[in-house]
Amino acid sequence: MKEILQDLSREELDALVSELGEKPFRAAQIYEGLMQGRRISELPVPYGMRSALLARFEDEPVHILEVFTSADGTRKYLFRLADGNVVEGVLMAYKYGNTQCVSTQVGCRMGCAFCASTLNGLVRNLTAGEILSQILVVNREQGGTRKQRAVTNVVLMGSGEPLDNYENTLRFLRNLTREGGICISARNVSLSTCGLVPQMYALADEGIPLNLTVSLHATDDAERRRIMPVAKAYSIAEILKACSYYFEKTGRRYIFEYSLIAGENCDEAHAARLAALLKGRPCHVNLIRLNAVKERALASADERQAYRFLGMLEKSGISATLRRQMGADIGGACGQLRASYLGAADGGQETKEER
Ligand code: SAH
Repeated sequence: MKEILQDLSREELDALVSELGEKPFRAAQIYEGLMQGRRISELPVPYGMRSALLARFEDEPVHILEVFTSADGTRKYLFRLADGNVVEGVLMAYKYGNTQCVSTQVGCRMGCAFCASTLNGLVRNLTAGEILSQILVVNREQGGTRKQRAVTNVVLMGSGEPLDNYENTLRFLRNLTREGGICISARNVSLSTCGLVPQMYALADEGIPLNLTVSLHATDDAERRRIMPVAKAYSIAEILKACSYYFEKTGRRYIFEYSLIAGENCDEAHAARLAALLKGRPCHVNLIRLNAVKERALASADERQAYRFLGMLEKSGISATLRRQMGADIGGACGQLRASYLGAADGGQETKEER
C-alpha cells in the first residue's frame, strides 16, 4: 500500500508541499479538497503535482463499496480500503444531527463473546487517515461539505478497539477536531473502549474533551471474564478508578455501555450490583439489548426484561437510558456486515439479512 495523504496534519501537508517545491497556497487547496472528501485525482491542482502525489499516496484510501438502508433510516456502509480489506460503518439520524460510527481496526483481538468484529481476530490497525476518510466520504455522499457538515457526531464504536490502536486514533482525533478541517468538536465525539486501563489514563492526560464510553456488560470480574477476555487483564475496580481519573482531568462525565444478554447479566441481582458499583459517580449507563450474532450462542434480553432493568437502575438513582436497537435488520452490530461479507466471499451464506 502507498502512503495515506489523509494521515497528515495540516502542518505536515505544508511541509510536503514545500518539499515538492510548490507554492504554499497549494497546501491549502489540497487540504480543502481532501476535507470535502475528494480523491487526489479530483484535486484542483496542476497535472504534474497530482501525478507527484499519486506516485506516493493512495488516490482513494476508503471507497464506499456498498450501502444498506434500514427501515428506520439507519445507513450501513461497507468500505473497501486500498489494500482490499473491508471495514464497516453506520450513519444514524437523530433529532440533533447525524452520528457516524467508524471502525478503528480491521477485525479486533479483544475476543468479546458477543461481538462479530473479533470472530477472525485482528487483521491490522487502520491509519489515522483511513479512520478520518470514512467520515469524509460519507459526509460527501450525504451532500455535506467541510463547513456544512452532514455528519455532525462521531462515535468510535465500529470494528476494533480504538485504544489498542492508540497512536493512530489520537492522530485521527486531532485531525478530526482541528479548526479549518472537517472540525467536528471533541464534545461531539465518543470513544468506546472495552477497558484498556493504561491507555485510559493516557487518554485522560491528552486533554481532549471527548466522551469516554466504557463497555462494562457485567457487574463482577468473574462474570465479566466469561464474556470479555480483557477482564483477565483489568478488574472492574481498576476501570472505575481510571474513569474517576478521566473525570478529574477533563471534568466530563463518562458513560457505560451495558448490553443486556439473556440469562447472563440482566436479572434483579445484576441491577442491584450495578447500581451499587456506580452510585454517586458522574456517569450515565447506556443499556442496549444485545444484537444477537449468528456465529455466537448468546441471546438478547427481551424488551420487558430490558425495561425492568432500566426501571431498577433509575429507582436506585442511576442515570440510564435504553437505546433503541437501530439497524438491527441490516446487521447493525459491530462487525456483522464485514463478517457476512467475508462469509459470502468464502462461499458462505447470503450476505444481506432479510425482514
Ligand atoms: N472496542 C470498543 C468499541 C467497539 S464495540 C468497545 O469494546 O467498546 C462498540 C460497542 O458495541 C461496545 O459496547 C460493544 O461491547 C458493543 N457490542 C458489540 N457487539 C455487540 C452486539 N452484538 N450487540 C450489542 N452490543 C454489541
